[in-house]
Order: sequence, then structure tokens, then C-alpha cells
Amino acid sequence: MVGLVRRIVASHSGLVLTLHRVLPPEERNLCYDPHLVLSEPAFVSLLQLLQRDYQVVYLEELLNNPRSFDGRPKVAITFDDGWEDNYRIAFPHLLAYQMPATIFACTGLLNTSGVLPEERFARLWNQCASRSKLDELLADLNHWGLGRRKNLHLLPLKRYWSQELKRMPLTARLLLLDHFEQRYEVPPVTSRRFLTWDDVRIMRQTGLIRIGCHTSRHATLTSETDRDIRRELEDCRSSLLKHTGVVPEILAYPNGMHNQRVVDLLRSTGFRAALTTQPGLIGRHSNPFALPRIAVDDTTVTADDAQFSSSQTSVYFLSSWLRSTATS
Ligand SMILES: [Zn+2]
Repeated sequence: MVGLVRRIVASHSGLVLTLHRVLPPEERNLCYDPHLVLSEPAFVSLLQLLQRDYQVVYLEELLNNPRSFDGRPKVAITFDDGWEDNYRIAFPHLLAYQMPATIFACTGLLNTSGVLPEERFARLWNQCASRSKLDELLADLNHWGLGRRKNLHLLPLKRYWSQELKRMPLTARLLLLDHFEQRYEVPPVTSRRFLTWDDVRIMRQTGLIRIGCHTSRHATLTSETDRDIRRELEDCRSSLLKHTGVVPEILAYPNGMHNQRVVDLLRSTGFRAALTTQPGLIGRHSNPFALPRIAVDDTTVTADDAQFSSSQTSVYFLSSWLRSTATS
């Protein structure tokens, strides 16, 4: 571990961590995707590790100058989507450790009982699987013009179709989901998934938590028209201005998806940086609109359900770092 820290410091680089949800172990199974969950004990171990070996700073500070001056690499903590447990579970720990973090929120989902389009598809799929109706659903999806790519066999079926849907413009995808949810009688969601604006206000008042843009409705920007991209960005920014008084200048790409057209639109609407889901370190010469991050969740920090330990986190950071430097 000491060797890893030294190597990161020597490279004048910093790390941005990506988290989504922090849940108590008994609630982990309530999340539709295990890749989105870091269990609460693991989160506390992570904060202890960061306190010991890293310097946790605001994201803006890391981006302005990733170089460390005290021998400990700089780290910025980010959360994507704006899940309610960021306030209920993660925030009290961040407060106790006095560690700053940025939450990239989908403003159209805050304060609502709305559901992420990706979760809606997972619920639809599970409903059909439990009723032996998957063949019917696949025929329907084909009928709607999806599933024409040749690499169907390369991914697990559910993941393949989930990716296919992300290629649709969001408005069309939401209409399709409305239709299928009715047709296959998917039960409505009753519990709140996302933060309220009061949660946001309380967290921001501590000065530790900042809010960034993750679009309004979790749109995969590469699948949208220029006009719809602008609308997603503007809706998100105007909501944040209204509720927090601050216009965000940093975006986290939903699903990490971006291309040159999206970057040009971001620049023209006043953004100055954007974060991807590509693993890697951030240095002085990193492309500000393709900044890498390191995902931290239960599936990446532990191989099984065993108790998380800080040494496992170190191993994960190490392997992520080696992977990213090997490919750069
Ligand atoms: Zn997201």
C-alpha cells in the first residue's frame, strides 16, 4: 500500500472515486443492481482508509491542482444519481469524518417517487422472468426495432437488452417502458428512491456536500439530439440554481457515455469539466471533458460477501490503478 501511495504521489495525480448507493447490509438486496451498492460497513472502512493514507478534498480543488503537497495523494469522493441513502446513510459518516463529497444528481428525479429508466427496465425484466414471459417480451422488443446488433451472444441477455434500450432517445425509451409496464403488469413503485430538496439543503448547509449535474432524467447523452441534450442540461442547471442558488459547472455523464458532439454542447452551455466511468488517475494534463474515475462498490472491493477490510480496498485501488496505467 505504501508503495502505491508513493507512486501516485510521484505521478502528481489524484483519484476521483465513484459511488452510487450506501446501504446497510440488510437493505442491499433492495437495489436492482449490485454494482450500485457499497455496504455501510465497507463505506466506513473506506473512509478510515482515506483518512489514513489520502487527503480527501473537494472535487474542484483536485481538478484545479491534482498534485499533492503533503505526501498523501488527493482524493475526491463523488456519488452519482442522487439516491436517498446518500443523505440517510452516507452523509452522517461523511460529517463524522469531515470529508467533502459531490453528489451528481438527476434533478428531475429529486423530490419525486420517480424511478431511474435503467431500474424500470430491470423491474420489467424481472417481472417477465418470474412469469415465464421473457420470450414474449423479447418478441415485443424486436417488434419495436430493438435487438439488431450482432453481438447479442457476447453479453448476458438482460444486460444486452438493457444496453440496447440505452441507445434509444430517452423520451422514446420512457414511452416504451410505460407501454411495457402496463402490458406486463409491473407493480408500481411505492417507496422514494431519490433525495428531497430538503435533504440537499441540509447537506449543503454543512459546507461539505456539493451538487453537480447528472442531467435531468438520466439521459444517455450520446443517444439524444442536440436540442434534447441542451434541454437535459438546462433543466438540471436551472433546478439546481433555483434550489441551491448555485449553477453547476461539472457534469458526470450518465452511464459514462460521451462523444465530441456532447462535449461541444457542454462547452457551449457553460460546463468546464465532465467525469466519465473510465478507470484511471487525474493529472494536470487530463482532458477536462473525459476525466476518469474509480468505481467503488461491493462487487469491486470484495470478491464475496465477506467482511470488507481496508486492505481489500487497497488491493482494489492498486489493481484499478495498474489497469489504467497499463492501458494509458
Ligand atoms: Zn447515473
